[in-house]
Parts: sequence; structure tokens; C-alpha cells
Amino acid sequence: MGKVFLIGAGPGDPELMTLKAARALGAADVVLVDELVNRGCLAHARSDAKVIEVGKRGGCKSTPQVFIEKLMIRFAQAGQTVARLKGGDPFVFGRGGEEMQALAAEGIEVVVVPGITAWIGVPAALGIPVTHREVARGVTFVTGHAKDGAQPDWEALARSGTTLVIYMGLRRLQEICLALQKGGLSGKTPACIIENGTLKTQRQAVSTLGELSAAGFVGPAIVVVGDVVRFARVAADVPKARAA
Ligand code: SAH
Repeated sequence: MGKVFLIGAGPGDPELMTLKAARALGAADVVLVDELVNRGCLAHARSDAKVIEVGKRGGCKSTPQVFIEKLMIRFAQAGQTVARLKGGDPFVFGRGGEEMQALAAEGIEVVVVPGITAWIGVPAALGIPVTHREVARGVTFVTGHAKDGAQPDWEALARSGTTLVIYMGLRRLQEICLALQKGGLSGKTPACIIENGTLKTQRQAVSTLGELSAAGFVGPAIVVVGDVVRFARVAADVPKARAA
């Protein structure tokens, strides 16, 4: 019986993968990779590994979840080492829990390799310190797009005193911004959208809750709301190593 590594690839920039993720990827015979994962991450896979793309982006053509789970089970039962590579962290809005359950039900060993999730990696790409002392008393990460259509209690979140990081919030942005203002946040509260965070294609709009607009953004993007957004700046990258 093979095993499955459930790996978080980090928020985008392949250099933000962990050392353990790279090592697990290098041990795999088969790699199942999500659309959100930057292809640069695959540099750590063996050149003879079988790479299968199982894209699943909101609203786009996607591989059904059950089929992905069946594939992993089939390969593991055939004695293969499988790497399931997911964007960010596998357990943050990533259905990693479901995949783990499906594999466990078949008696397949699962090793989870956490990754830097978008709420940690992406605001940092703009230098936003999400829990800055005396500005925010914490951070809450929520999804703006639940499958069952249910919404977080935006008005309660508005009163939480925490920085809000909203995954998948573009489609309902206007509704969300209004609900947060209804909950008591001022329209002048700093807010931003960050698309393709940490990648060369990163784009952002830094504005206020009253004026933030999703126009021109297609995602993947997160929305950050809170006074910490006033620290936003385009952060410089770590210099590349000089050739010897
Ligand atoms: N497991 C992932 C989240 C998957 S849900 C994680 O831990 O980050 C997909 C959503 O994550 C996107 O719609 C977007 O809201 C957010 N996201 C992921 N990567 C991002 C990036 N590089 N820039 C901005 N948002 C990102």
C-alpha cells in the first residue's frame, strides 16, 4: 500500500513552499496538482513523476472532488506514493479534511504537510501586519463564498475588533462592504484587494471600505479590512543569490 502526502504549496511564490513540502514532493510517484498552485512548485517533483492537473477554481470547469479522491485511492492502493499539492494550506478552505477522511476510510496513510495560507502570506506581500499591537486585537479569516450560500455574520465581524481577511470575497464584495458598514465599521476603514499575492502578477487596490471596488479583478484574491491596511506598501523582495 502506498501513501498520500497532503501538501500545502504556499500562497503563490514557489519559494514560499516549505522544505518539507519540497522533500515530500520529491518522494512522489504521482502528483495531483490544483490549479491554484504555481507550476514553479513542480520543480521539486521527480522528472519521472506522473503529474495530473486537477484544476478547481470557483465557477470554472473543474475535476469533481469525488474523482480526485478516487484517483488518490487508486494510486495509493497500487503501491504508489502520491503527492496531493494544494494552494496555501491544505486545511484552509482547501477540502483537505475531506480528502483525508476519504483516504482514511480506505486505510491509506496520509501525511499532512502544512503550507503558508493566503491570509498569512498575501497581506505580508504588501507589508500589512495583520495583528499589529494596538491596532488590531486579532485576525479573522472567513470565506465570502460558501457553497451553501450561507454568509458569515458580517455585522458581528464588524464589531470584533479584528482584522478581517476574506477569501473568495470578490463576487460579493459590494454586499460584504455594505454589511460591514451596517455592523458599525466606518466607510473610511482602510481596506484592500490583493490578487495573485506573492506572484509576479500580483495586483492590488488599496482603498477604504466605502470605496473598494472589485472592478478589474478576476482573482484569486483576498480582501483585507481593518486599520492595519494603512501600513500597505509594495514590499521589496529578498535579493536573488549572486552567482558564485
Ligand atoms: N488553501 C488555500 C485557499 C484555497 S481557496 C490557502 O490556504 O490559501 C482559494 C482562495 O484563496 C482564493 O479564491 C483567494 O481568496 C485565496 N488565495 C489563494 N492564493 C492567493 C493569492 N496568491 N493571492 C490572493 N488570494 C489568494
